[in-house]
Amino acid sequence: MSKARDNFRKEVLEHNRAKNNGELVCAHKEKGNCKGKLIADHIDNNSDNNDSDNNGQVLCMSHNKKKNNSPSRIITYLRKKELSLPIYTYTRKKRETLIVGSVGMQKNVTGYPAVFDWLRDKLKSTPAIEYNDKLINSASKIGKVRQSTVRGWFETETSDEGEFALRDVTIKGEKVECIMTKQDALDFDFDSQRSERK
Ligand SMILES: [Zn+2]
Repeated sequence: MSKARDNFRKEVLEHNRAKNNGELVCAHKEKGNCKGKLIADHIDNNSDNNDSDNNGQVLCMSHNKKKNNSPSRIITYLRKKELSLPIYTYTRKKRETLIVGSVGMQKNVTGYPAVFDWLRDKLKSTPAIEYNDKLINSASKIGKVRQSTVRGWFETETSDEGEFALRDVTIKGEKVECIMTKQDALDFDFDSQRSERK
């Protein structure tokens, strides 16, 4: 084992113990059924990336195996795009509360479902889509409504009660705001939860 990797392992285990009153705790404990020895895992699965603060987490053997065999759809997608390095970090977006009933919020009877059917369809082939003006413009065309209206709809659908979610994905140091399904966002959070730790 290289010295860097050895240090990585020591630091990851040490930090985890320090956080959990001296005990090692699996980072995927909430998923249930922890089994086997607890090990220091490279979040991005790149064993040369020995940044223990940003790329380390403790996992039990069972969850480590599951993670490596079935990375979330988002991570798989990013890997395919060769955007897997370095680490994904994300922040939950704080959404502003919208005034329900404002003009921008009115659910145009055909436009609203058309926009989200279109988005749902897009997300089948591309799990994370950049949330930017281009997307808003396309959605505005699909829904036959103004950009500001569409923005309101997106705010609604990415709220806590909505079907979709926004995440900032840091790829190669650049922060990209992406829209994804709520399920994909939850999977993504599990894969990158380590980066949330302060
Ligand atoms: Zn576990």
